[in-house]
Amino acid sequence: MADPKGFLTTGREVAKTRPVGERVKDWNEVYVPGSLLPIISKQAGRCMDCGIPFCHNGCPLGNLIPEWNDYAYREDWTAASERLHATNNFPEFTGRLCPAPCESACVLGINQPAVTIKNVEVSIIDKAWDSGDVTPQPPERLSGKTVAVIGSGPAGLAAAQQLTRAGHTVAVFERADRIGGLLRYGIPEFKMEKSHINRRIEQMRAEGTKFRTEVEIGKDIDAAKLRRRYDAVVIAAGATVSRDLPVPGRELNGVHFAMEYLPLANKVQEGDLTVSPITAEGKHVVVIGGGDTGADCVGTAHRQGALSVTQLEIMPRPGEDRNADQPWPTFPMLYKVTSAHEEGGERVYSVSTTHFEGSAPEEGQTVGNVQALHLVEVEFKDGKLEQKPGTERRIPAQLVTLAMGFTGTDQTNGLVQQFGLELDGRGNVARDADFATNVDGVFVAGDAGRGQSLIVWAIAEGRSAARGVDRFLTGASALPAPIRPTDRSLMV
Ligand SMILES: Cc1cc2nc3c(=O)[nH]c(=O)nc-3n(C[C@H](O)[C@H](O)[C@H](O)COP(=O)(O)OP(=O)(O)OC[C@H]3O[C@@H](n4cnc5c(N)ncnc54)[C@H](O)[C@@H]3O)c2cc1C
Ligand code: SF4
Repeated sequence: MADPKGFLTTGREVAKTRPVGERVKDWNEVYVPGSLLPIISKQAGRCMDCGIPFCHNGCPLGNLIPEWNDYAYREDWTAASERLHATNNFPEFTGRLCPAPCESACVLGINQPAVTIKNVEVSIIDKAWDSGDVTPQPPERLSGKTVAVIGSGPAGLAAAQQLTRAGHTVAVFERADRIGGLLRYGIPEFKMEKSHINRRIEQMRAEGTKFRTEVEIGKDIDAAKLRRRYDAVVIAAGATVSRDLPVPGRELNGVHFAMEYLPLANKVQEGDLTVSPITAEGKHVVVIGGGDTGADCVGTAHRQGALSVTQLEIMPRPGEDRNADQPWPTFPMLYKVTSAHEEGGERVYSVSTTHFEGSAPEEGQTVGNVQALHLVEVEFKDGKLEQKPGTERRIPAQLVTLAMGFTGTDQTNGLVQQFGLELDGRGNVARDADFATNVDGVFVAGDAGRGQSLIVWAIAEGRSAARGVDRFLTGASALPAPIRPTDRSLMV
């Protein structure tokens, strides 16, 4: 146990963020660099090393949290990094971006603020990179087997790293121009600077993983050819089809999916564009959807110089404490103030958009520009969402982003049809307990099979699918399998 009295003598302290006025002027991560390390050993010392560590089950990766808390408390950073990597290929991603369901399951959290598990995780891995403890781990022997991974998000990268280290020759195919999936194009720089992806890719290349960008499987290479060339295939293509809002005025200029808007801001940060073609500068911005993607639009709009930012959510505002139906150690739906929300804007709950209003088309335009959004308040009656009469109102909007979730994996590029993949009832690729699809030798991991989820789940699925592939190729596997496809952990 780290410090037997730590939880009695030390209060919870989290990473410090930079002042709002400073950070909205740049795109760097919102945290004060170096602020965690001086406090993190004492924070790790709050861990009670419980006989039954519920945090293990709260984390979809089954991270060995009390073990690395103990090492962090003793400042044995090398050992802490080794325990962390035993279950997680990319702690620098989860340590920055995970909603930390482990902390909701922390036993200390029953009657005190939980251990800052996520902050300890990111401190261990940042220290490991700085000290040179993260090195390539190429396999000792090659198996002679080949694997194609489709998609380079966290699921594809985790599967590829596990399979490469198991001795298989792995190529990752990515339709975008850079590796990383939503980590690269979607999640803004201020939540995670992309240099963290770049150095992992370098490690993976040094281990032997091959990367092929700007290759769309189903279009540039068909499924039959890929299957002839590779002994196994992992589909980690994400759930990239955005949910639409088919109300009058949807066709107006200035109404965009969040995933049309956010990647352009990423491309500016990558140096590909000087200014985003879809910018919030000088505009009243409305973000439809109250989740994390919506929050990313809010933070991006502020940095681009929006006049105002309003985020709309159809559901009622969640409570600040656990409801009786979401008891410890489940991951509760709570009112969250993300770093983007600290930076300004208004959040409006229990409203539904009825239509968009636009200007007349200008010369050369087929449709006009969005000018306003009309909404109405809604409430649940007998389990059904109903509009409240007399509550209609209009808010100015020259840029609207739709961040209402995703409906499943992309079926427009032939991937699903060419492989002959069966889908489940929710439009995701169906799979068995080994993450195998209905097609022999073809596996699926991450959002493509699970539906839009979290990075931690994508990594866990990538690791588990790698074990399924390894067993398929060699008849047995020493690779770990953190989860089965049906696992919901503690309901994240
Ligand atoms: C804006 C946004 C913010 C988010 N923020 C968070 C967060 O803070 N924390 C968190 O835990 N989760 C977050 N998520 C969710 C998280 O990013 C996803 O759950 C995770 O990235 C899924 O990983 P994946 O590898 O399954 O798929 P993805 O990351 O979606 O990667 C799939 C990749 O496959 C590629 N691809 C698709 N089809 C083909 C093809 N035919 N050929 C070649 N390549 C193909 C795509 O281009 C993409 O790069 C966020 C999601 C969004 C949209
Ligand atoms: S990956 Fe997420 S759930 Fe797991 S220990 Fe880290 S912060 Fe917690």
